[in-house]
Amino acid sequence: MDPATKEVIQNVAYLVASVLFIFGLKGLTHPRTAVRGNLTGSVAMLIAVLATLWGGDIISWNLLIGSIAVGSVAGTIMALKIPMTGMPQMVALFNGVGGAASFLVAGAELAYLIAHADGVLAKQTTIAIAASGLIGAVTLLGSLVAFAKLAEFKFTFGGKKIWFSSSLVLPGRHFINSLFAIVCAGLCVMVVMNTTTSSWYWLLVVAASVLGVLITIPIGGADMPVVIALLNSYSGLAACATGFAINNNVLIIAGSLVGASGLILTSIMCKAMNRSLSNVIFATMGSSSASGPSADDVYEGKIKATSADEIAMLLDGVQRVVIVPGYGLAVSQAQHTVRDFANLLESRGTAVEFGIHPVAGRMPGHMNVLLAEADIDYDKLKEMDDVNSTMDTVDVAIVIGANDVVNPVARTDPNSPIAGMPIINVDKARTVIVIKRSLSPGFAGIPNPLFAADNTLMFFNDGKKAFNELVAAVKES
Ligand code: NDP
Repeated sequence: MDPATKEVIQNVAYLVASVLFIFGLKGLTHPRTAVRGNLTGSVAMLIAVLATLWGGDIISWNLLIGSIAVGSVAGTIMALKIPMTGMPQMVALFNGVGGAASFLVAGAELAYLIAHADGVLAKQTTIAIAASGLIGAVTLLGSLVAFAKLAEFKFTFGGKKIWFSSSLVLPGRHFINSLFAIVCAGLCVMVVMNTTTSSWYWLLVVAASVLGVLITIPIGGADMPVVIALLNSYSGLAACATGFAINNNVLIIAGSLVGASGLILTSIMCKAMNRSLSNVIFATMGSSSASGPSADDVYEGKIKATSADEIAMLLDGVQRVVIVPGYGLAVSQAQHTVRDFANLLESRGTAVEFGIHPVAGRMPGHMNVLLAEADIDYDKLKEMDDVNSTMDTVDVAIVIGANDVVNPVARTDPNSPIAGMPIINVDKARTVIVIKRSLSPGFAGIPNPLFAADNTLMFFNDGKKAFNELVAAVKES
């Protein structure tokens, strides 16, 4: 087959893959069609890969097959081993390796072009390569820091215990960050101007990696979801730039789709957190240290513990119950038991709804995914604003494993790491039951006065065990 015809067929295959990517994304917009959307995206990727292998100039099949084998084995082991609660970290890692793949391919392309093009490189190509190096490296290191924060790594530095999920604020950070940003911009110019060596490119990758760490470490507390969405978008932009560098249409389109959808998600997350993007990027809000009252001040002598039997009595004859799930639902995998409990209450004439906070859990849509897995009717899942508007008519609000997203401090303390974040106002319900194992803080690391409120009862238990006991107690009552 002549090369021109081959190229046309390859581009048609890329077009088909791109259209399928778009349908796949559309499918992912609703839980009912999400599985099909995921499958459509996978088929699109398969078509794109096969078309590339068939039409491209493969330098070494051995190297290629070896890399695919290593990647597939590593990916399969990770996917099989990772618990559901580890998914957010895994997504952060995927964003990072996406960025790494982009800057490595762009770097290899630069080295290849320098070796074969006698120093004459199109500006469009070198600009794309520089962009890929910059964005890809920021994405890799930023995502690794995000990974460490989501995994809540702890370490001791200079005798001080540092909790990775909180923000690490360096003195003079705005100056240091600006300096590195200027260095990166200068190195980008060097990559574009100097087409006889790839040294400038690798220097750029190193400087951008440091920048990635610097801009992610001060972001903590409740702002992490925005960062994850933004890094996801960056990984797409890096892939798109690499697409321009190696002249690959499907990479340009797929990268743009990831970049654009990541930006849309970032903007949704910013809105949910009541933050502007610049607030988050320059860490002017989420970085405030947790300097509020201590846990002892907030809780001492004010906590009222309860039991399954007591809650069953309380629920007898109530009209409206709202269940607010959080990260602890994912940890305890209580979604199926929660569904059984909700069905039981409904069979006794109580209306049950679920109040879903957009950043509950550790990844966007985390609660929706868990509750959909348990076949809980999608119409019962109410968005934060809907459920808040009628919270004062709720007889009992049951909080399972949620903490930051129901912490009234967000409304009252402008210095708190979650200041200004809209919360689900369960404290306005007549009675609040909080199910968690202890008084430990949530991701933002701050005490929660809700637990000490007059209308709150604490049911200290693992989420799943608690609901099993509740189902039994309600049946007996
Ligand atoms: P939180 O992290 O605030 O609190 C979770 C609570 O769950 C903990 O206090 C813990 O208390 C409890 N818990 C843990 N395991 C169990 C268990 N087995 N049974 C019962 N309870 C359990 O969660 P929220 O969902 O309220 O808030 C999410 C936080 O994560 C926000 O700060 C958000 O910004 C952040 N975040 C969200 C992301 C997203 O995209 N959604 C991404 C990154 C961060 P105890 O140990 O006492 O049981």
